[in-house]
Amino acid sequence: MAEPTVPSAQVLCQISALPKSDRPLIVCDVDEVILHMAGHFTEFLAAKNLTFLSGGYRFTGNIAPIGSNTPISQEAVRQLVDSFFDEESHRQKLVEGADTALKDLHSDWDIVLLTNMPGPHNKPVREKLLQDFGVPYPLLTNSGAKGGAVAALAAGRPVPLVFIDDSPMNHVSVNASLPSAVQIQFVADKDFRAAVKPSVHIDLLTGDWTRTRDFIGGILSKV
Ligand SMILES: [Mg+2]
Repeated sequence: MAEPTVPSAQVLCQISALPKSDRPLIVCDVDEVILHMAGHFTEFLAAKNLTFLSGGYRFTGNIAPIGSNTPISQEAVRQLVDSFFDEESHRQKLVEGADTALKDLHSDWDIVLLTNMPGPHNKPVREKLLQDFGVPYPLLTNSGAKGGAVAALAAGRPVPLVFIDDSPMNHVSVNASLPSAVQIQFVADKDFRAAVKPSVHIDLLTGDWTRTRDFIGGILSKV
């Protein structure tokens, strides 16, 4: 995808509906950051006689029938992700400590959740689950790379904005659109995290919410 990306009209509309604020901002992803995804998706695949081919941190080209080395098509992966959201997203599990760390940070920071979902019909299910887990922050839905949306969210806010996401593609995108962002690559699953080689624009690679909270807490004390 060409960077920097232009935010979609759909995400800009959601951003314009947020209350105006000049507090510093944390933009936080959901899957594999606040809600477990990789392990749950692996179980979902196994029930369909599918598995990841390698521990590499990607879906496309990396999922195959158990016992085969031939990956399923990109379209088949897309359909599996859609099915996962429709059938499983209401029972994803909370990543340990995400609720309390975000609650602590919210005393000094605004928090916006920026999540990629297959369709708008998936959003209310996710909002309810997050509310039930004590993660009640505004949820914006996006598709594709997140840099454009994050740059739009930064407008009028103090520097730095903090961006938390598991996806290397989203971090590349944010670095292109908003180089001043503090970038935390959070990957809850330890096997997926072990496969990550963090790019130079990553300020912290972790799967630990206490460490994330302390790292972000140290930013304002330095400003
Ligand atoms: Mg994610």
